[in-house]
This record gives sequence, C-alpha cells and structure tokens, in this order.
Amino acid sequence: MSFSSLGIATSFQKVIDDQGYSDPTPIQKEAIPAIIEGRDVMGIAKTGSGKTASYVLPILHNLLETLETSTLPDRDPSVLVLVPTRELADQVYRVFQDYLPTLPKKLTCFAIYGGVSINPQMQALRQANILVATPGRLIDLVEKNATKLSAISTLVLDEADKMLNLGFKKEVDRVLSFLPQTRQNLLFSATLSDDLTSIQNGLLNDPVIIKISVDSQDEDTSELINQQGYFVSEEKKGPLLRYLIKHGNLHQVLVFASSTQKVDSIANKLWK
Ligand code: ADP
Ligand code: MG
Repeated sequence: MSFSSLGIATSFQKVIDDQGYSDPTPIQKEAIPAIIEGRDVMGIAKTGSGKTASYVLPILHNLLETLETSTLPDRDPSVLVLVPTRELADQVYRVFQDYLPTLPKKLTCFAIYGGVSINPQMQALRQANILVATPGRLIDLVEKNATKLSAISTLVLDEADKMLNLGFKKEVDRVLSFLPQTRQNLLFSATLSDDLTSIQNGLLNDPVIIKISVDSQDEDTSELINQQGYFVSEEKKGPLLRYLIKHGNLHQVLVFASSTQKVDSIANKLWK
C-alpha cells in the first residue's frame, strides 16, 4: 500500500521516498485518511510507530488543498502542535521542514520552547503558519501579544501521555482557551490512561479512535528500533562504549548518563 492510495498528494511522494518510507505504518494507514477527511482523531500507538508523519503528512496535504482554492491567514498560525519537550518540538519541526519546500507557496513553521531567549521567537512569530510548541513558552508569547491563536484550524496534542505525566494539564487547558471553538483536534499518545480519556472527552468531537496493538508488556517499544543491552561492571562501561563506537562503525551516537559529571568524563575520554 502506498501513501498516495491513502489520499496524500503525489507532490509529497519524492520526500517520502527520500525518507526511505516504502509503506505507511499501521497508525499512518488509519490516521491519514481520517485526518484528510477532516475528522478528529485519537491515535494510540507505541513509540517509534511513525505517529509524527501520520499527522504531518495529512495536515500538509490539507493545507495544500486550502491553498488551491483560497488563502491562509498571513500572519497568524493555522496549525498548532503541542508537545511536552523541547527535543520533541525540534524533532516534529524538522519533519514539517522536510516537506514544506514541496508546497507551491512558501509556508513557515517554527518551534517554540522555553529555556532559550524569547526575543528571536517573538520576531519569528510575526509570520508563521505552523507552530510546534511546548505549552509554557507558547502561553508567554500569546500573553506578550507575539502571536494570536484565533486562526488555528488544526490542533495536535502529541505525546499527550507524557504531557499529562509532566503535569502540563493546566497549561494545556490555558492554551485551549486561546483557540477558536471550531477546529480539527488530533491527539496522539503511546499509552492510554484515565487522565487521557478525560482529556479526550473534553477535546475531541466525534473522534476516529485508532489503537494499534498497545499491549501492556511492550507499550513503549517498537519493531523499527533494534535494542540491545550489555551487562558489564562499572569500570568496563567506558571501554565497552569506546569499543562499540569504534568497531560498530557508528557515525551518530547518543549517549545518556546519570549525571553531569559522568557526561563530562565520558565526553573527555571520547575526545582522547
Ligand atoms: P512515534 O512518534 O510514533 O514515536 P516517529 O514518528 O518519531 O514515531 O517515527 C519513528 C521513526 O520511524 C522515525 O525515524 C521515522 O522517520 C520512521 N518512520 C516513520 N514512518 C515510516 C514509514 N512509513 N516507514 C519507515 N519508517 C518510518
Ligand atoms: Mg512521537
């Protein structure tokens, strides 16, 4: 099955091919047609199952359709994706960026998050069509009149479970209060909880509910990701890491450690 058979405009196909996606993942197969149809969607599928493209592609497809018959608001954003963390904001932003050049009109996407200076974000927001934001900084920017959310026609809550776990419920509600009543709402999560069900009831209007094999044993991992564990003593961890990087021919590696001191020490040894 191809992306175009799900209704995605063929103009996105080249980028889809460049990404190396031959077939849509199960969540993409179900979410894409529903979002194109304009339905509200709740999508539950584990981490790594391709949830980002399952909303980015149909949202861009719908924007493309709108552009064919009318215009988008010039200054105010039409699409808002709320995410729990800065890293995720950047990740989702990059997925939008991959496809934006294929649109006939130049549309802009910005990632908005806290922990960095607010001024460049205020500048950028003078003209933005798609916002990917963490709730706190977005509220600051709206309160400073840097942006209005009254033209949002599609809202996405991504990693909604994490958003609730991190205690963002109040902030999310505040952001919702800035949005127009009539809009498409999309909610994605790796897990389903009672809190999420209550958010869903207040947010989604007659939603298409998609649950892709969320079993409690394995709810947070994916077949797309190959995972391996090594049990070694403390003093062997460094040498093993260096061995794996060198002999595994690894070009891009993300190393997590439990403290800043450990991070410094690992980085120093890798430099050497
Ligand atoms: P999730 O949000 O469900 O955790 P992501 O959207 O981050 O998952 O996607 C996980 C990985 O799968 C990414 O590297 C993405 O590029 C890749 N991916 C997405 N869709 C496909 C597809 N149809 N075929 C192959 N890989 C895909
Ligand atoms: Mg995701």
